[in-house]
Amino acid sequence: MNMKPIHIIGGGLAGSEAAWQAAEAGVPVILHEMRPVRGTEAHKTEGLAELVCSNSFRSDDAQNNAVGLLHAEMRLAGSLIMASGDANQVPAGGALAVDRDGFSAAVTARLEAHPLITIVREEVSGLPPADWDKAIIATGPLTAPSLAEAIAAETGADALAFFDAIAPIIHFDSIDMDICWFQSRYDKVGPGGTGKDYINCPMDKAQYEAFVGALIEGQKTEFKEWEGTPYFDGCLPIEVMSERGPETLRHGPMKPMGLTNAHNPTVKAYAVVQLRQDNALGTLYNMVGFQTKLKHAEQVRIFRTIPGLENAEFARLGGLHRNTYINSPTLLDGSLQLKSRPGLRFAGQITGCEGYVESAAIGLLAGRFAAAECLGKAADLPPSTTAFGALLGHITGGHIVSDDEPGKRSFQPMNINFGLFPPAEAPKVEGKRLRGKEKTHAKRRAITARALADCRSWLGLPAMKQAAE
Ligand SMILES: Cc1cc2nc3c(=O)[nH]c(=O)nc-3n(C[C@H](O)[C@H](O)[C@H](O)COP(=O)(O)OP(=O)(O)OC[C@H]3O[C@@H](n4cnc5c(N)ncnc54)[C@H](O)[C@@H]3O)c2cc1C
Repeated sequence: MNMKPIHIIGGGLAGSEAAWQAAEAGVPVILHEMRPVRGTEAHKTEGLAELVCSNSFRSDDAQNNAVGLLHAEMRLAGSLIMASGDANQVPAGGALAVDRDGFSAAVTARLEAHPLITIVREEVSGLPPADWDKAIIATGPLTAPSLAEAIAAETGADALAFFDAIAPIIHFDSIDMDICWFQSRYDKVGPGGTGKDYINCPMDKAQYEAFVGALIEGQKTEFKEWEGTPYFDGCLPIEVMSERGPETLRHGPMKPMGLTNAHNPTVKAYAVVQLRQDNALGTLYNMVGFQTKLKHAEQVRIFRTIPGLENAEFARLGGLHRNTYINSPTLLDGSLQLKSRPGLRFAGQITGCEGYVESAAIGLLAGRFAAAECLGKAADLPPSTTAFGALLGHITGGHIVSDDEPGKRSFQPMNINFGLFPPAEAPKVEGKRLRGKEKTHAKRRAITARALADCRSWLGLPAMKQAAE
């Protein structure tokens, strides 16, 4: 056993899973966790994989829900986080919710008991030293400041964000294109465009005034005291802009200039909401300039009053949070390795995924990739059709760089959702043409069936018989 260990920094959701996967593959691991020597603003215990807020892993429905599918794939891959969650489940309908203390205690006990894992309670305050051949940084949204500074120095300060300012993202197939139309402002083609790169939602004066009123009245979430108030010009929440005066939005992100309604060319829109393609697949569009701290239910209620978005399905709702994440699509290679420093990987929320389950899933992949290399093999990437592959694709390259706002980061954290998967056709049902929601659900079931089959094949597991799945 002369193999050098993989050093994993951070024993949260991602680091714990990465340590387990690497050790189960036969590679020694040293897991460095700073609690209880040093705490974070949100963690309350010294347990590994502490859940800092809700106790839910969200939907456990692997057939119809993207995070439920991710659960299923993680279980297939022998996930410690899922096994500990399943063993500590509390009643929560279709969701998987856990007893948070029992869950964290189970993860801690199994990692402590593993013969190939050593847990060191210390803060790592700089980048891994040169003699750590393989390392994974999994220090999460509340990475200790000295390590965050070292990461910024290595990657460039612009590549590390301390807040996310998130605009909602909508599934393309839920947008009413009989009301909206494709057009770039002034038909500008730009370096990578076609002149028809945006989806435009028109508003008349009465609709605009009602909309601005709803934004001002809508319920907002508050910042926690330790988060500070991270407003900066160019990134103001839409409701803060609307409070500055009734015309502010019409002269900002909702300006109607340079746009002609393809369905009604003679009538000039009073204001326009623009949506920009968000992923290379063209299945997701983000609401340009609509970063917001409105409560999620309020966002759905208010944004569905926008013409053309009455039935909008949101892949992600907007928010402004304290976070720490790197600009992964430019910095990391396809196996989560820092391009400028081979052998050093990132995992968890710091890579730009969002949520407990997603963070653990990226930890699972990073642990496997690093272990494979220690064993003299190449990192085996999951197919893009799986939830693992879809999430990895978002992190390492699926986003669209904005041509019209040069230099502006377009990569934003994201939960797993069906818009990240390559589309799948709904199976034909004899004598019946599927429409609307029924068709959407059938397409989703086709995506999840394909994903589970491809995941099994990627993991070298025998295929399931159709009926049993
Ligand atoms: C306030 C808050 C609330 C959230 N609520 C939810 C929620 O309800 N549901 C949800 O799905 N997601 C939530 N998230 C998002 C996110 O998914 C979780 O934070 C998740 O825990 C991220 O997993 P991780 O492993 O990347 O980071 P973490 O679980 O935070 O693990 C990182 C670990 O690294 C340690 N660490 C940090 N710096 C160092 C260092 N320099 N040296 C050694 N150790 C270090 C930390 O102590 C921590 O244990 C929330 C995030 C925040 C900040």
